[in-house]
Amino acid sequence: MRTAIFSTKKYERMMLDELNASHDHEFVYFETALGPGTASLAAGFPAVSVFVNDSVDAHVLSHLATGGTKLVATRSTGFNHIDLKAARELGVRVVRVTHYSPNSVAEFAVGLLLALNRKIHKAYNRTREGNFELDGLMGFDLVGRTVAVIGTGNIGTIFARIMIGFGCTVLGFDVHRSPEFERIGGRYVEAEGIEEADIISLHCPLTPDTHHIVNARALARVKRGTVLINTSRGGLVDTEAAIEALKTGQLGGLAIDVYEQEANLFFKDLSSTVIPDDVIQRLVSFPNVILTGHQAFFTREALGTILETTLASISDFAAGRPLTNEIKM
Ligand code: NAD
Repeated sequence: MRTAIFSTKKYERMMLDELNASHDHEFVYFETALGPGTASLAAGFPAVSVFVNDSVDAHVLSHLATGGTKLVATRSTGFNHIDLKAARELGVRVVRVTHYSPNSVAEFAVGLLLALNRKIHKAYNRTREGNFELDGLMGFDLVGRTVAVIGTGNIGTIFARIMIGFGCTVLGFDVHRSPEFERIGGRYVEAEGIEEADIISLHCPLTPDTHHIVNARALARVKRGTVLINTSRGGLVDTEAAIEALKTGQLGGLAIDVYEQEANLFFKDLSSTVIPDDVIQRLVSFPNVILTGHQAFFTREALGTILETTLASISDFAAGRPLTNEIKM
């Protein structure tokens, strides 16, 4: 099937071309993101594939539908960038990658926690400069600490299992209880239980209910010095409130792989430009903040499954088969 693939990088194109040998689709790659200014590029493509920072709102979908697009395949689990209601009204079906190595994100969240707590990023830079001083690098033992997992789905449960392995007490916060989370030793608590946590890790999707779930009010309630890890979606955290909490020491550290305004920054090399986003510049100026550019999913296993699932969905659509990964409202 003729498919316009937006926001593609070299590493994806190589893998897609390899995998496509057994599907035989006609792919046209666009490095640019899909959005109001680029939707016209998709005219005449029955299938369009997008990534997390493409904007697939009602306006863009209406352009796509007019141009003959019938399928949008997002190469992600999250789908907060797609207006599902508009898609349904326009007769555009939407598929996602329901399941791919949740270990990739859970393991990265643990990596961020370890780096932030034990200041591994600082030590790396110091020793390259011949500085073997330990001053300023002290962390804390994870054993015996309390970890709050917000969202105990696929990723949150694996993150919980790893933290239990470290000897932590793991508290779960979710609107649906997972038997697997409880089986591995996690314990569900009510909202006020957050006050016990030394570490909070976010693993719930971004929805109208979870937007700014970490705001000034929530941050005022956490234990002083709590460490916050966000590998889920930037919009879960009110960044300005997090900055204030870092300034007062209420938040002891922040590690984020996602950022609310990431669409204009992430997945691009902006090292020779002046970055006009003052909030992110303020964030990276803190010694107790680590920021990565939405790379938690980025393992060979995860990317392989993401692309293979996307191709299989496009093949199913082309053959008129049921779409097992369709997002239904
Ligand atoms: P999942 O659907 O298996 O789990 C999400 C969990 O969040 C569910 O148990 C759900 O009940 C819970 N939840 C929903 N609303 C909630 C609320 N208001 N409060 C608490 N919990 C709530 O999803 P997953 O595969 O574990 O992925 C989780 C998120 O991770 C995705 O939505 C996506 O945003 C993010 N993600 C990030 C990356 C990355 O590279 N950084 C990659 C993949 C996924």
